Amino acid sequence: MSAVGRPGELQSVCVFCGSSKGHDPAFVRAAEAFGRLLAGRGITLVYGGGHTGLMGALADAALAAGGRVIGVIPAGLAERELLHSRLSEQHVVTGMHERKALMASLASAFVALPGGLGTLDELFEIWTWAQLGLHAKPIGLLDVNGFFRPLLELTSQIVEHGFARRENLELVLVDDHAERLLERLADRLRAE
Ligand code: AMP
Repeated sequence: MSAVGRPGELQSVCVFCGSSKGHDPAFVRAAEAFGRLLAGRGITLVYGGGHTGLMGALADAALAAGGRVIGVIPAGLAERELLHSRLSEQHVVTGMHERKALMASLASAFVALPGGLGTLDELFEIWTWAQLGLHAKPIGLLDVNGFFRPLLELTSQIVEHGFARRENLELVLVDDHAERLLERLADRLRAE
């Protein structure tokens, strides 16, 4: 998997998050703030290319703040997730696997925000690829209002029951503060 830009620099972040908004307005606020933060740092946002839910809120906020946004959407989902028509770049691909592979190759790091089953699928794929040594790009979880706490309890149990090693949990940086999470991802990337 290739990185975009100079090695060791956080030039682009692939964000996984809900195609729905969720019930708590804090989730939309966090997605918008994260979009603005990336734009403000000159970091390209790579995401699923839709216009709905947190995905749309994230992309709109990044664009409004002058950021560069790349979408990657399968043709079959372009209607359901309302393909975002104002992105810096939009790649329409043939299916989910191509989408995930292209998003991964365009990003120098990954961040998951709250979302649904698709968000978890994307997070776990990139997490297990790191566990297998298929990539060494940093991964972060932005834990808005403790959203990911039950997931972290489950992954701890997985270790306690002997199904994963503790160091594989540490592949994912967890933070409730977006700027600090970005700093930690950048530090980890520099250490690679
Ligand atoms: P969700 O968290 O379910 O709202 O989905 C977030 C994003 O993940 C949406 O863009 C979905 O299209 C996408 N998604 C859902 N399932 C998959 C999958 N198996 N592979 C790649 N993306 C997916």
